[in-house]
Amino acid sequence: MLLPKFEYHEPSTLQDALNLLSELGGNAKVLAGGTDLLVRMKQKIDRPSHVISIARVPGLDAIIPRNGHGVTIGGAVSAGAISRHELLNDRFLPLALAAGRLGAPMIRNRATIGGNLVNARPAADLPPPCMVLNAEFKLKSASGEREVAAVEFFRGPGEADIEPNELLVSINVETPMPWTGGSYIKLGARKTLEISMVNVAALITLQSPDGVITDARIALGAVAPTPVRAYAAEELLIGEKPTDELFERAGMTGVGLCSPITDHRGTMEYRCMMIEVLVKRSLKQAVERAKSWKP
Ligand SMILES: Cc1cc2nc3c(=O)[nH]c(=O)nc-3n(C[C@H](O)[C@H](O)[C@H](O)COP(=O)(O)OP(=O)(O)OC[C@H]3O[C@@H](n4cnc5c(N)ncnc54)[C@H](O)[C@@H]3O)c2cc1C
Repeated sequence: MLLPKFEYHEPSTLQDALNLLSELGGNAKVLAGGTDLLVRMKQKIDRPSHVISIARVPGLDAIIPRNGHGVTIGGAVSAGAISRHELLNDRFLPLALAAGRLGAPMIRNRATIGGNLVNARPAADLPPPCMVLNAEFKLKSASGEREVAAVEFFRGPGEADIEPNELLVSINVETPMPWTGGSYIKLGARKTLEISMVNVAALITLQSPDGVITDARIALGAVAPTPVRAYAAEELLIGEKPTDELFERAGMTGVGLCSPITDHRGTMEYRCMMIEVLVKRSLKQAVERAKSWKP
């Protein structure tokens, strides 16, 4: 399949990229890793007359720690770089684990976090971990900038809170509290090169290694038109000692918050069963990691 004709732009500064987006607006598409865009262009789903590569824009591919308070991840950082990054594996584990499960090595080394989030596919790997980490997305245009919380960003399948003249420049995450542990579990028919049938990200904070749960965050993917934060399941956990029975109740509550579909990857019934199992499993993993938190 051949690509349709388009004009290619390769700005070398952020301002030039933003000016181009402002001039060309809806006729242009940003090209990051191209693992979604080029496929959609070949299939004639997207037909932009201009393509703006962000590969030469400095800084978009950087991961910058903020003095122990958090981290800023550039919009064009690859999933591969995220999965291998020491600080992200240490303090922001759900994101590093999810990035390591995206596609296969060749895809991961091209696919960017910005492309994965803007694409807003219900089964994508990176939205749920961003949601449990309370990430903020910085969007810039030629006329200004704004921040959108990860939980507010996803509007529907393929729809996100971003305008055609805006660029997702960074993902900002605060460092979780001490005694926090995280997890990410992806269920697919294969171990690699597979889109999720269900995915779950969880983050648990304990008062102390043997103490009660002081914060709990759960996000689910591939279970509704957008990824879902399971607030009602989280509320059950806060103030309680972690037990299997508690996690089972959280899993059952999680099922009630989802509206999965039947498709070629799995039936609605199977997805519901798996939400319950995977929520429970991901909470157990997160608590074990919280207990072994190191300063
Ligand atoms: C074989 C294969 C396997 C895959 N497996 C998975 C998988 O397991 N899990 C998964 O979640 N996805 C998977 N994908 C989908 C895809 O790889 C990811 O969604 C990827 O992260 C997209 O990033 P990209 O840099 O390639 O985006 P691109 O294709 O470059 O762009 C995607 C969209 O986002 C826009 N965009 C990109 N960056 C920005 C930005 N910074 N600001 C504003 N708009 C932007 C583009 O204009 C385009 O509309 C797979 C794809 C393929 C081809």
